[in-house]
Amino acid sequence: MSETILILNAGSSSIKFQLFATQGGEGLERRLKGEIEGIGTNPHLTAESKDGRSLIDKSWSAEELGDAAAALDHVLDWLTQELRGEMPSAVGHRVVHGGTRFTAPILVDDAVIAGIGALIPLAPLHQPSNLAPIQILRRRLPELPQVACFDTAFHRGHPAVADHFAIPEALYEEGVRRYGFHGLSYEYIASALPKVAPALAAGRVIVAHLGNGASICALKAGRSIDSTMAFTALDGLPMGTRAGQLDPGVLLYLVRKGWDAARLERFLYHECGLKGLSGLSNDMRDLLAVDAPAARLAVDYFVYRIIREAGALAAVLGGLDGIVFTAGIGERSAEIRSRVSAGLAWLGLDLDESANSRHGPEITKAGSRVQAWVIPTDEERMIARHTRKLLDGAF
Ligand code: ADP
Repeated sequence: MSETILILNAGSSSIKFQLFATQGGEGLERRLKGEIEGIGTNPHLTAESKDGRSLIDKSWSAEELGDAAAALDHVLDWLTQELRGEMPSAVGHRVVHGGTRFTAPILVDDAVIAGIGALIPLAPLHQPSNLAPIQILRRRLPELPQVACFDTAFHRGHPAVADHFAIPEALYEEGVRRYGFHGLSYEYIASALPKVAPALAAGRVIVAHLGNGASICALKAGRSIDSTMAFTALDGLPMGTRAGQLDPGVLLYLVRKGWDAARLERFLYHECGLKGLSGLSNDMRDLLAVDAPAARLAVDYFVYRIIREAGALAAVLGGLDGIVFTAGIGERSAEIRSRVSAGLAWLGLDLDESANSRHGPEITKAGSRVQAWVIPTDEERMIARHTRKLLDGAF
């Protein structure tokens, strides 16, 4: 009988989960996925089977289900029922920040929990939410193996020039570095690319992870050498509600106006990006659907900054062999891919519009000097692979 691995991706008010069953070799079959969202406000649990059938759709009041611990309880109760009493053999977690210490996935023990907790100042919005289910499970089911997988880990091999800001070294030593994020997504793409385009995978590739959060990453022979996100997931490209690269002088200006850290944090994480610029929506679909000058500017800026950063990463790579589009916008918006590709035509990218409108997988013409591909990302599968590999022999 196959074992199952539960993957948890916990945010500030939601816990996303997926369950994989182990198969022969390194195979992993997704059995179900779901989410409990609105924790603390209007909690709502949904899940679907691998063929898209709804398995549960249930709401609670905030009083009945007020925090992450209660939410996790409900998810586990439901899962136990769904699995007819069989518990997962292991749990893999997404953790946003691994700092300098966690350069690879790691089996959780008390020291690891303390280490993840010590990184809270580097990711105050995300790290506590990621840590909560790890602690809860450790207390409740101490024998259950848990593996922490870090979004920063894939980037830890960056050269010193890509890992530094031009600030005094003492701050670098303190951990103020250009870490880079979306690492589990990039690692998944780096593992998928050799299967569809082996020669390209061995070359110079930009991966564009364009979702609600967005960044691009330079891969040389499958290894990350630089990316647009840095100390936090605020740098680089504009995103749904984050500005991306911003002159720090803007922050000084706002501080002089009297803004405190909490106000700045809300501004930087929730009020900028596509939403701030358009004044309408953080959702690319909405912006592409309306004919309003502010929406057009927001989309133009998004495309412009991708082209600008892709040019910079192509220079860092010493040329470009291909680009891979992934995540919500990258996988689904032919228009954004087409516009980004037009901006990279000078590098030798010759888009096949009809393949692009079908969402690929390959979207450049035969003979295009720079290839373009659409590859759906799968961060949860990447976490499941790491979890299984680390626990190999345990099941
Ligand atoms: P997250 O970063 O939250 O994981 P996703 O990768 O799921 O985000 O991407 C979500 C975003 O993808 C949405 O905010 C939406 O803007 C965008 N998106 C989804 N489908 C489309 C589409 N068909 N066209 C354009 N944008 C889309």
